[in-house]
Amino acid sequence: MHLEAQADERAFRDEVRDFLADHLTPELRQAGQRTMGTCSPHEASQAWQKILYAKGWAAPSWPAEHGGPGWSAMQRHIFATECNFADAPMLAPMGLDMVGPAIMGHGSTAQQADYLPRILSGQDSWCQGYSEPGSGSDLASLQCRAVRSGDDYVINGSKIWTTHAQYANRMFCLVRTKTTGKPQQGITFLLLDMDTPGVKVEPIITMAGNHEVNQVFLDNVRVPRSNRVGAENDGWTVAKYLLEFERGGRAWGARLRGALANLHRLAEARDIADDGFAQRLAALAVDVRTVEFTEQRVIAELAKTGRIGPASSLLKIRACAVLQDIGEAGVEAIGNYAAPFQPKASQWGSNVEAIGRADELAVVGRYLDQRARSIAGGSNEVQRNIMAKQVLGM
Ligand SMILES: Cc1cc2nc3c(=O)[nH]c(=O)nc-3n(C[C@H](O)[C@H](O)[C@H](O)COP(=O)(O)OP(=O)(O)OC[C@H]3O[C@@H](n4cnc5c(N)ncnc54)[C@H](O)[C@@H]3O)c2cc1C
Repeated sequence: MHLEAQADERAFRDEVRDFLADHLTPELRQAGQRTMGTCSPHEASQAWQKILYAKGWAAPSWPAEHGGPGWSAMQRHIFATECNFADAPMLAPMGLDMVGPAIMGHGSTAQQADYLPRILSGQDSWCQGYSEPGSGSDLASLQCRAVRSGDDYVINGSKIWTTHAQYANRMFCLVRTKTTGKPQQGITFLLLDMDTPGVKVEPIITMAGNHEVNQVFLDNVRVPRSNRVGAENDGWTVAKYLLEFERGGRAWGARLRGALANLHRLAEARDIADDGFAQRLAALAVDVRTVEFTEQRVIAELAKTGRIGPASSLLKIRACAVLQDIGEAGVEAIGNYAAPFQPKASQWGSNVEAIGRADELAVVGRYLDQRARSIAGGSNEVQRNIMAKQVLGM
């Protein structure tokens, strides 16, 4: 395993750099740099996905048969790293990195033909309906009910913390189809159209001032049976498969490298990069490097077995911890400028000059937002339980 590019990989890196230089507008770069949350603002993320799609680069990890570029693990690493260095917007993962792989792994041929091309092109935007007001860590206790009615399921209940539900035209969700027996064996995985009558989306604004998450109410929502992925009452299998991609399939190393490069820029701008802060930067660089190696192991495992496995939990915990450390160092670097936080400064299309010091304010936004990263996608405590059980056999 090596992380240094060989000659052909350097040529590939140059090709990627040229492409990014030609296609990333200042607005797109600004959106990438000020990204909070799971992905960049919807408009920027969509615009960038269109550009990547036209080039055939929208889904680096997808197999070529479904429209992926057929890259090696190293090429994917290079591409993700260069995108982060260039401040490219982060694409929404709910379609490309979550439901896409789940449909490839567990969907019917008809579902693959129907959904995958629209996920790839960005024509469809997805949200994830797993968590409920009473079910997060103990996801198998979910209560959102679906009952059969002719050729449809009729859903009643509510989903919460639903990222970007306000933009999504589709949701993949877990519903309870059996109330007896083991809770895990009464769950079904469904794909629903957000325009269906009975779907209502209510915003939840985070302390970072970001409208990322929502509560979604489902009131007698009819979903055709053909929208079921996998067998009835076997949705837990699909759900767990998808979670491995959510936790482990997100180019964490590249994201951390990008965040560290931003921190370097910030420290240099404030003339502290050579002081005691240099030690902090060096320690973080080591941390980022170790995450990259862990990620390479995860990618190798995926290539060998087709599964990411419980290493996704390890990667997620460690990557989020380092991301939070970088965020914290950023706040220290800007000192008292961290105090007057203005969420609007980091929003897509904001008039930066009018607000002033927008870059520094975005640092605070990111710091506040990153508090949530050790909860989103399954809390750190729960990931440790998974590792204790599945890796250590405890
Ligand atoms: C920013 C953000 C975006 C999100 N986006 C989505 C989304 O798009 N779709 C979606 O479905 N969900 C989403 N979530 C929800 C997320 O998956 C849940 O918040 C998470 O699984 C934790 O569940 P909970 O909030 O119900 O907390 P709880 O399960 O109530 O946990 C509360 C605390 O108890 C601890 N805890 C719980 N059980 C155990 C245990 N067995 N052992 C040790 N400690 C335990 C937890 O670690 C946590 O600290 C998002 C969350 C956030 C913060």
